[in-house]
Amino acid sequence: MDIQKSVSLFQEAQTLFPGGVNSPVRAFRAVGGQPLFIARGEGPYLFDVDGNRYIDYVLSWGPLITGHAHPDVVKAIQEAALQGTSYGAPSPLEIELAKSIMEFMPNIEMLRFVNSGTEATMSALRLARAYTKREKIIKFDGCYHGHADMLLVQAGSGVATLGLPDSPGVPSAAASDTLVAQFNDLETVDALFKKYPGRIAGIIVEPVAGNMGVVPPRPGFLQGLRSLATQHETVLIFDEVMTGFRVHKGGAQTLYNIKPDLTTLGKVIGGGLPVGAYGGKREIMQMVAPLGPMYQAGTLSGNPLAMSAGLAALELIRGDEVWRKLEQAAAKLEAGISSAAKHAGIPIQQTRVGTMFTTFFSETKPVDWNTVKVADKIRFGKFFQKMLENGVYLAPSQFEAGFISTMHTDEVIDATIATAELALKAL
Ligand SMILES: *Cc1c(COP(=O)(O)O)cnc(C)c1O
Repeated sequence: MDIQKSVSLFQEAQTLFPGGVNSPVRAFRAVGGQPLFIARGEGPYLFDVDGNRYIDYVLSWGPLITGHAHPDVVKAIQEAALQGTSYGAPSPLEIELAKSIMEFMPNIEMLRFVNSGTEATMSALRLARAYTKREKIIKFDGCYHGHADMLLVQAGSGVATLGLPDSPGVPSAAASDTLVAQFNDLETVDALFKKYPGRIAGIIVEPVAGNMGVVPPRPGFLQGLRSLATQHETVLIFDEVMTGFRVHKGGAQTLYNIKPDLTTLGKVIGGGLPVGAYGGKREIMQMVAPLGPMYQAGTLSGNPLAMSAGLAALELIRGDEVWRKLEQAAAKLEAGISSAAKHAGIPIQQTRVGTMFTTFFSETKPVDWNTVKVADKIRFGKFFQKMLENGVYLAPSQFEAGFISTMHTDEVIDATIATAELALKAL
């Protein structure tokens, strides 16, 4: 595989950007080698600057559920751009996208658009604190909610991959109100409520963990969080930035039939452009300025290009037939990798919920960060390289989710399974 152009671009990029990248997870630090520079994407494929083609299971880290450069999404962006790229005033597109999201997720009675998942979670927590007049929050070990100070505590893949337990630069005061419980373990949550009675503003959780690799919730876990939050008058926040429109068209809250108080969104709802949103119960959302006292703003929030791209993407995944096919493709991939590993005699734990999956090189069933982190990173790195050399682009870390799109046809999945068979045998 010739990657000469990527090699020289990476050399230049390292003089311009820390580590040569504009988001650390892109840097291939955990798997060795160096990042590829991408020239373009088309459907399920990425093409690097040297002309190599890859089947893409990163999909921009989740957003591209309709694949790269879907003609409907591209057209929506082009048409929107002709009308101007930003107004700093309301446009009808915001109403359309909000209504579309609310049809998928009826628990969202009112929402606010922002520009990234990080902004969404940061704002939702500020709101939970404003609403409850309390300061402490509970998050889960291994869950990632963006890079806001108070959330950069035991935060999963990106941080774990680099071996930074916490980030320097986060003031201890900012993190001191962040309490950490174990995913899938209600007792650790209950213990925090007992230790800090009447002081916990919110619980934030990835309802299906995706940022330590895919870890599904145990039966009863999410329901238990709902009960504890209700009992203690604490705001339950489902961070569905990744799982929204990924594990089910109505997100994890629909799949597991749990009603969070607030939901944070991002990724898919922007159709590949930068967007986030937070929303939920009207009574809580009424606290947000200018209706209420909790301040939160954004120069480019509700951007017409992003709204248009999001609308086009959601339109494409509205039908049940699309979801039947997505589920079928994802299940086929899951089964194919599992049986390839069995044939090769390599112990793996294959997890999947909807269109999100992870292959853990481990003999331990992943249920929380402690059971996830024992996975064999070296072996994953070798698998990753073999897959890449043979034209399959996986996330460059053991502790990430893989994603499929509506463009991952039977043919594409079959080719991937064949490549996985070769790669696993070669380990
Ligand atoms: C990606 C992600 C975020 C952060 O979103 P950005 O747009 O990268 O700021 C927050 N929460 C979850 C669950 C995510 O997967």
